[in-house]
Amino acid sequence: MEKIILTGDRPTGRLHVGHYVGSLRRRVQLQNSGEFDKIFIMVADAQALTDNFENPQKVRQNIIEVALDYLSCGLDPAKSTLFIQSQIPELTELTFFYSNLVTVSRLQRNPTVKTEIKMRNFETSIPVGFFTYPISQAADITAFKATCVPVGEDQLPMIEQTREIVRKFNSIYGETLVEPDVLLPENQACMRLPGTDGKQKMSKSLGNCIYLSDTEADVRTKIMSMYTDPTHIQITDPGHVEGNTVFTYLDAFSNQKHFEEYLPEYHNLDELKEHYTRGGLGDVKIKKFLNNVLQEELAPIRARRAEYEKDIPMVYDILKKGSEAARTKAAETMAEVKCAMQINYFEDAELIRAQSEKYRKVED
Ligand code: ATP
Ligand code: MG
Repeated sequence: MEKIILTGDRPTGRLHVGHYVGSLRRRVQLQNSGEFDKIFIMVADAQALTDNFENPQKVRQNIIEVALDYLSCGLDPAKSTLFIQSQIPELTELTFFYSNLVTVSRLQRNPTVKTEIKMRNFETSIPVGFFTYPISQAADITAFKATCVPVGEDQLPMIEQTREIVRKFNSIYGETLVEPDVLLPENQACMRLPGTDGKQKMSKSLGNCIYLSDTEADVRTKIMSMYTDPTHIQITDPGHVEGNTVFTYLDAFSNQKHFEEYLPEYHNLDELKEHYTRGGLGDVKIKKFLNNVLQEELAPIRARRAEYEKDIPMVYDILKKGSEAARTKAAETMAEVKCAMQINYFEDAELIRAQSEKYRKVED
């Protein structure tokens, strides 16, 4: 079986370092590993419209931002197909047929959707499109026969829903769709990177982000005002590393080489944590270290972005070509789905023959 990746992001803003450690960094590694036969990366504009339907300009403007972030992180159109969700009508068609296989109560149980409904104040009136977006995500994944979906932890319930739909579809209509595996980040900090305010998740919608395209000065300012440990008032006070955003970010970004280069008095992160916990280590010092680490990671991304920004028509062209290629693949799957569901009337000579036969008999 071919090894295929499908993943994507909503064009609701520029991408941030949470996306980077949660999924983007891994995608680039997987792309360059050469282990995959095909890689599809989707700008999920149709999904973004489910909760931004009143603001089409926002979605329209952010498509290029997400594409620029992709390219600047190292996604390469020669190796990965970058495309726009709404340009693939087969995805909508699949969503419609999959809706038959999912109950309202099953959707209501989805913990990510529950949290997102609260966040958007949709409790009293949930748009149907938003409520059912896990079904549309199943369509996205299965249209490309994806075997692997690299995402952050918040997407786990979506992949589980997809797997259920695949099993149900295959058991009713015959083996057609592929059950995908989720690929979560290697460490806990990357699963769900908190915001700079210490809130549960860095999220475009919460405004607590460090963006991949932030300037060097912006990144420094955001790090220097980051949430740490409110009980760590004097340098000599013992501090907490659990729930301390600076340490969570160091878990996600720092490595041995960073210590050798920027903080040689400590061998590794464990030693730094140990000193902070004991007391005697100030927040400014750990923030300055984090700033060095993050700037090192973000500088090449920023530089590549500046290059791509010089040729925006080329970036749109990459998306256009990618969308055409993605559509070809999705149409293949759609044809198989229609055949399995027995709604391929005009391609089925046997059906027409059998029906004629039936009526001939009636005449006789
Ligand atoms: P929105 O608020 O519009 O939903 P978002 O910031 O949650 O935006 P998405 O486009 O929904 O971003 O998520 C894209 C991908 O990035 C998903 O795979 C998701 O798991 C991952 N991701 C998003 N935020 C984080 C985070 N804070 N930590 C780790 N992964 C994340
Ligand atoms: Mg989200």
